[in-house]
Amino acid sequence: MQINIQELSKIYPNGKKALDNVNLEIGTGMFGLLGPNGAGKSSLMRILVTLMKPSIGSVSIDSFDLEKNRKEIRSMLGYLPQDFRFFSKLKTWEFLDYAASLSGIKNKNIRRDKVDEWLDKVGLFDVRERDANKLSGGMKRRLGIAQTLIGNPKIIVVDEPTTGLDPEERIRFRNILSELSQQDVIIILSTHIVGDISSVCNNLALLNNGQVAFKGTPEALIEKA
Ligand code: ADP
Ligand code: ADP
Repeated sequence: MQINIQELSKIYPNGKKALDNVNLEIGTGMFGLLGPNGAGKSSLMRILVTLMKPSIGSVSIDSFDLEKNRKEIRSMLGYLPQDFRFFSKLKTWEFLDYAASLSGIKNKNIRRDKVDEWLDKVGLFDVRERDANKLSGGMKRRLGIAQTLIGNPKIIVVDEPTTGLDPEERIRFRNILSELSQQDVIIILSTHIVGDISSVCNNLALLNNGQVAFKGTPEALIEKA
């Protein structure tokens, strides 16, 4: 599986050029999107997950084109935005059950197994009866990742996954993603903190002012710095 981003630019209605001729190939495994605030990371992610159209350029995923095959591509996607919020009044397990049903798992028993499996994977089984709203920040992030992954997406896009997490939660989060990257999926993580993801990514790109300032392995980036 491969994502091809070609000559992609995004100019917002106010004239702001958030992405400026971005060219990237992203293969299976973990891909890091680095850059300071305002670099264009969220804009690129929103285009990749079909929430926003580019002004110029194209994106393809294998033989699918983002514009022409939106439906097929959406069925492959799992997206965890930075400002992800929970519905109020849902228990932790109910929240995952709802996510599982949205992803098309109709059979209740299969859903229950899936929910238990993911509660266990992200370390929330013991708090499954707690209101999702009342979980700690790190737990909410883990619930967010579980709800993103429960439908087995092939392409996983996570915006600033470790923001606001303490060191222990960061390691925990990284381990969940590392385990996933052994499978045939593409995981794209954005961050403004290089050290957070460089150890788990096979490849990364550094965005600056909407342009790709570097692409390659984390080792090559460190050598260059
Ligand atoms: P990052 O995720 O790296 O912080 P963004 O993609 O959010 O970067 O933003 C890139 C630039 O585009 C920033 O200057 C931001 O203020 C601007 N921007 C983002 N969204 C909009 C919008 N809807 N309208 C105008 N400018 C925007
Ligand atoms: P991020 O960097 O994570 O994208 P932002 O604070 O830049 O977060 O953006 C939050 C929201 O505000 C987004 O929906 C973005 O599209 C919008 N936004 C950001 N900058 C601008 C801007 N200059 N004008 C209009 N909307 C903006």
